[in-house]
Amino acid sequence: MTTSPPTGDEESAPDSVVPQAAIGASDKPLAPGLYLVATPIGNLEDITLRALRVLRLADRIACEDTRQTAKLLGHFGIRTPTVSYHMHNEASRAGELVEALKAGARIAVVSDAGMPGIADPGAEIAAAAIAAGVPVFPIPGANAALSALVGSGFPAERFTFRGFLPSKEGQRRSVLEALRAETPDAPGTAIFYETPHRIVAALEDVVAVFGPSQPVVLARELTKLHEEFLRGTAEGILTDLQGRPSIRGEMVLLLERSPQTEPGTGTAAALADEVATLMRSESLGEMDALKRVARARGIGKSEAYREWQRRSAKRR
Ligand code: SAM
Repeated sequence: MTTSPPTGDEESAPDSVVPQAAIGASDKPLAPGLYLVATPIGNLEDITLRALRVLRLADRIACEDTRQTAKLLGHFGIRTPTVSYHMHNEASRAGELVEALKAGARIAVVSDAGMPGIADPGAEIAAAAIAAGVPVFPIPGANAALSALVGSGFPAERFTFRGFLPSKEGQRRSVLEALRAETPDAPGTAIFYETPHRIVAALEDVVAVFGPSQPVVLARELTKLHEEFLRGTAEGILTDLQGRPSIRGEMVLLLERSPQTEPGTGTAAALADEVATLMRSESLGEMDALKRVARARGIGKSEAYREWQRRSAKRR
């Protein structure tokens, strides 16, 4: 069994000390070790009391971008020295920081926003610290993927986080096709980080791979003033974004994956829904809509037509 040294957090604080703790001003000592500290993803209130205390009492804060973190520290009146720790110096800086940790330092790691290590630097130094026998303490808090998931309304008991979709179309399609292939065995919600300048291309690929009726949520600007959840089909959200004068902000793309939403293995009803959605959203005739759905599903026109007729026969 492995044990960790005390972090000063073993006892929960009685109510009477909350005002002091509320500004992260408690002087409970900080055990030596590496602290992976979550910071807000927009709203500065989304930082925990414990995160503030750790940032205040650490010997050093390793930051993805020291200028970005300076704003956060300034806001909370924290004067702990900072050092840069980013994608380009991750390996060399990790070695240096682990030496200090082995000598008993208390080092906090933060990224520009959210959980370090999640599509951000942090995992490498955590692994190096563990290999060197140094205690590692996650200090949980804001994270865009989980905030988007719980706000999406999609199933949250089973999900996969897939980071950023590749920027090149061919690679992006391959990732989406791999997701489509694994869905019958592993239904759930797939979560991707996206950028404003790639989201339209990404949604076009989602339509091509999963069909226009694929249920999608796009969570924009979470925790910020213009927070927005776009919910609907891939085709519908694509049309919405294409109609906007500009697409801005940080965003998370979520796809609900289930055998029912799976093209190819989907039912005639799903195909019929896709055809109906296209006819409505793009004012297409039945045959044009059928052709589009067939192309998106990678099936022949006659196969799509048979499915469509089967569904129409059931309705009669
Ligand atoms: N470490 C961060 C976390 O825990 O969520 C993620 C960092 S990653 C470099 C940045 C991406 O996260 C953005 O491109 C966007 O996809 C997502 N993101 C970050 N903040 C967001 C926000 N407020 N609203 C929506 N998405 C956000």
